[in-house]
Amino acid sequence: MKHVHLLGATGSIGVQTLDIIRSNPDYFRLGSLSFGKNVASAAEAANEFCPPVIGAGSLEAARELKHLLTYSPDIIPGDEGLQACARAGNRGDVLVNAVMGRVGLEPTLTAMRSGKTIAIANKETLVTAGHLVKQLQLETGVDILPVDSEHSAIYQCLHGKKQDVNSLILTASGGSFRDKSREQLQGVTVDEALNHPNWSMGAKITIDSATMMNKGLEVIEAHWLFDMPYEKIDVLLHSESIVHSMVEYVDGSVMAHLGTPDMRVPIQYALTCPDRMPIKGSRPLKLWEAGTLHFKELDLKRYKAFELALEAGKAGGSMPTVLNAANESAVDMFLKGNITFLEIDELVDRALEQHERIAEPDLEQIIDIDRETRIRTAAQASG
Ligand code: NDP
Ligand code: MG
Repeated sequence: MKHVHLLGATGSIGVQTLDIIRSNPDYFRLGSLSFGKNVASAAEAANEFCPPVIGAGSLEAARELKHLLTYSPDIIPGDEGLQACARAGNRGDVLVNAVMGRVGLEPTLTAMRSGKTIAIANKETLVTAGHLVKQLQLETGVDILPVDSEHSAIYQCLHGKKQDVNSLILTASGGSFRDKSREQLQGVTVDEALNHPNWSMGAKITIDSATMMNKGLEVIEAHWLFDMPYEKIDVLLHSESIVHSMVEYVDGSVMAHLGTPDMRVPIQYALTCPDRMPIKGSRPLKLWEAGTLHFKELDLKRYKAFELALEAGKAGGSMPTVLNAANESAVDMFLKGNITFLEIDELVDRALEQHERIAEPDLEQIIDIDRETRIRTAAQASG
């Protein structure tokens, strides 16, 4: 029996993680869950799985939740709620980090210190402070397993062998606007941007896919997860999202991971690997139905956000922290209708330009830089 602690239980990845736990009651038990604002969904999940610890996004959400529960767990509000979930249970338990954004960083570090395996969907944590997570992994020896589909694919193609690798090849669907030129992006709406062709995901990552920032964040994520230099990480456009990513070896062989786009596959693999289990209702891949698979090189001029992410990743130090904070802030403003789509990467660009790089920021510096960048990005948008 594996005890799972789930940050972001009310989100897209969170709900699919609960689905896997529900389908396999003999294998998994929910040790704790956290949510942000969605009290109704959190109450439903809590009453079904009865985790003894719950983290709520705010005091108000915690109070509201209490009235809807049929049992009496510890409900802890605010960031401390995420920390409580990260500390709950025992060594050897798994923390699924499916919260959105930088807020996932501290609970990841806490869970690692408490000896938990980390199944990480929350890429912002690795982007903003990859070096701190990596350092702590060396100290604690805990496993960090990828949930992001590309990284799960690479993990499965690697078999732990890194020395014979020529390159990691991440595939990118191209997002909602893949058939538009940069000029045609002027004036696109929030609803259009939220309409992803292949995946149904949370709002922030769907916008990140449309700007291609998501792929940039994923390159940085791959750099830290697989300890791979940026020169050995490539990206290829692949519109069908069937090849989830590839590894090219020194002898020219390319190992690819294929499947229908279904996030439950990488989520479950992170919970069961190296074993596999059937997934209820998942459609096996029938390649003859797809017929043809398309691959294309990425045009950096078209995808400015991707280029910015790559530069920030390579520059390292505090640059990825700024990249992530400015992007989170800009995407939030776009979703609220306060800025245009093209302003997202303009604001990120400006934030990076204005920042004076710190080579090895500690946690306190990262939190400060994150906060200051958000404030500056919001001020610049309204100014
Ligand atoms: P969603 O927006 O669907 O869900 C986010 C979750 O985090 C919700 O449970 C939300 O709570 C909670 N949350 C958000 N902000 C806070 C906060 N400040 N404090 C506490 N809880 C908070 O996102 P996704 O599930 O799509 O994505 C989650 C992470 O996984 C992201 O990092 C994303 O990049 C990554 N990912 C997602 C994929 C996908 O298919 N969706 C694929 C690969 C990676 P509430 O809703 O209750 O407010
Ligand atoms: Mg991905």
